[in-house]
Amino acid sequence: MSENIQKEDKFLMNEIKESTYTPILTMKDIVLFPQMMAPIFVGRKHSTVAVENAMLTKDHEIILLGQKQPDIENPTENDLYKVGVLAKIPQVLRFPDMSMKLIAEGISRVKVIKLIKDEGYFKCEYEELKDKKVEGKDVQALRNLTLQKFTEYIKKSTRLGIENLLSFDEITEAGRLADIICAYLNIKSEERQKILEILNTFERLKAVSKILSREIEFLFIEENLQEKVSYKLGKSQKEYVLREKLRAIKEELGVESGTDEVDELRDDVEKMAAPDYVKTKLQKELNKLEGMGIYSSETSVVRTYIDTIMELPWEKRTKDILDIARARKILDKDHYGLEDVKERILEFLAVKKLSKEPLSSIICLVGPPGVGKTSLARSIARSMNKNFAQVSLGGINDESEIRGHRRTYVGAMPGKIIKAMQDANSKNPLILLDEIEKMIPSHMGDPTAAMLEVLDPAQNFHFTDHYVDMPFDLSDVFFLTTANSIDKLYKPLKDRIEVIRLAGYTEEEKLHIAQKFLLPKQLKAHGIKKLQFNITKMTIKQIINDYTREAGVRELERTIAKLCRKFAVKLVDNQELKETITKENIADYLGVARYLREKTEKKALVGVVHGLAWTEVGGEILEIEACKMPGKGKLNLTGRLGEIMQESAQTAFSYARSRYKELNLPEDIQEKYDLHIHAGDGATPKDGPSAGIALTLCLISTLTG
Ligand code: ADP
Repeated sequence: MSENIQKEDKFLMNEIKESTYTPILTMKDIVLFPQMMAPIFVGRKHSTVAVENAMLTKDHEIILLGQKQPDIENPTENDLYKVGVLAKIPQVLRFPDMSMKLIAEGISRVKVIKLIKDEGYFKCEYEELKDKKVEGKDVQALRNLTLQKFTEYIKKSTRLGIENLLSFDEITEAGRLADIICAYLNIKSEERQKILEILNTFERLKAVSKILSREIEFLFIEENLQEKVSYKLGKSQKEYVLREKLRAIKEELGVESGTDEVDELRDDVEKMAAPDYVKTKLQKELNKLEGMGIYSSETSVVRTYIDTIMELPWEKRTKDILDIARARKILDKDHYGLEDVKERILEFLAVKKLSKEPLSSIICLVGPPGVGKTSLARSIARSMNKNFAQVSLGGINDESEIRGHRRTYVGAMPGKIIKAMQDANSKNPLILLDEIEKMIPSHMGDPTAAMLEVLDPAQNFHFTDHYVDMPFDLSDVFFLTTANSIDKLYKPLKDRIEVIRLAGYTEEEKLHIAQKFLLPKQLKAHGIKKLQFNITKMTIKQIINDYTREAGVRELERTIAKLCRKFAVKLVDNQELKETITKENIADYLGVARYLREKTEKKALVGVVHGLAWTEVGGEILEIEACKMPGKGKLNLTGRLGEIMQESAQTAFSYARSRYKELNLPEDIQEKYDLHIHAGDGATPKDGPSAGIALTLCLISTLTG
């Protein structure tokens, strides 16, 4: 468009016309006052010609003359007022359709003396009208009063910003003030024309002040009416109207509204089995959701929250079964051995059945990895007809992992407990808290404190997750915990739990578990028939010893799974294949042995003793060796000995020195020799309260030779 607009034509400026007549621009509904500027659109033929002629005069002057009736297209002299404003046109923009936009700058009031229509436009001879300026106290008082009223008008009127007020204070002259205020008022041009025609400045301001009073009253009445109308609408009607308005606005903006969806959700919330406070909160969130565009980033946050809350099992439960015989059957069916453990679990269940009170102690299954803690917990859940969920606590050092993040946090989520409830999908599940000793307090808060609250029956019926932001009842949850060891467990937690220990398995037990449980399970998982795949007892033992080193059977299970996987690949090529895994072909499947047992020497040697030690993977036979060398009584210990074994070694040395006479040792033995004790399988950390005797014998044997 901009190229089409031709700026003022320069060549026109050269042919300046001198005439006693000034062109007239007839105005439909604008009254411009002197010393004010306004943009004016000009479309009518006689007006554009008048403007073109005005542009031909030296000062680009024109007279703005109002029409008595705005709807007349081609006015005659009688349709025009006699009083108008002489104006300058500093700028004209011409549009291709011959219309134009000009800026007019009012100069003074004028009265038309002689008007003619010539060459298609009005022009006239005029007389300039001077203001009859009145000054004095009355004028001053009126000026102040009018300004006051105008302030009130601006405050009530939504059309004008308060910033408009600032410049008015500086206008001292009554006539000019009247003109400016009049220009701001939302009144008919007829009334403006009247103001234009009053030359006495005091009278003019009086007239404007009157109009102001009337306008303020109008605004006041309007406001009152508005209040009354909205007051009559009830709260629900009001909501309805607002919602409809919102829908209309969204439609107008082309924003897709999710209102139908929200309405559906509203129904779902009403039908949902949950306490009232949950429903109320959800309805509030739904209102919020409705107010947002479907693509607003905030929408997904609110929506996710609503979904999370709706998915929680507020009132959903499974029917509990507390039948000891049934529990025993299931535990036996799922697990080999572990008699003591099963017995302890059944006792616990029996007490739970008899006692109406919630049990304040929580079972903690303590033992190395892979001894069946998790699978026992699953069996207990099954025997009690409870849903099962697991929470892994290893490495948690942030309180909000347990208790969730507040929703103001970016990417906020509920904590692990609420997530487990979601997974379990019932109010009374069994939740296994795995590796409870591996939570570490840090600067991000103490997760153990939050966990205590979760486990405490006096508090957990109103557990409040930061994200959910409402109490959730955990009192029906059967919590079970596991730990690899409880030595480092936080004391208040230790007080709350009842420890059931699961030791590691012996080779025989592992063999049994492999044959009866692990192998059938893996064959089934890999779709292999029992007749197709066989492993001899000896080979299983070989796997246990050469391919795994653990107290439990997890690695053993993984190794058996690996065997099955490799066999399954072969089976795809040849459906009829049958295989027995033996000493000969095991390496084809599993590669070379991963662990080599250190052969324990049967022959007695000076300074070598066999003892027992405890390692992470269970009990080990341990070869302890020592040697002496010239020195100053220093005792070197290697082989990653634990604190207790180190102390045992010190004690052994002191014992030998204190019994030097009986042992035939020189009295100043610590001034002659240094000693070095090494425990075999040096890379594995080990400890053992019972290693003291072995260490002592080893040391004495070395010293005495
Ligand atoms: P944990 O939780 O103690 O680390 P898991 O429960 O995960 O150990 O046990 C690892 C695997 O060993 C599981 O498949 C489990 O069924 C099996 N398992 C462990 N102990 C036994 C057992 N006594 N009888 C049968 N299977 C067992």
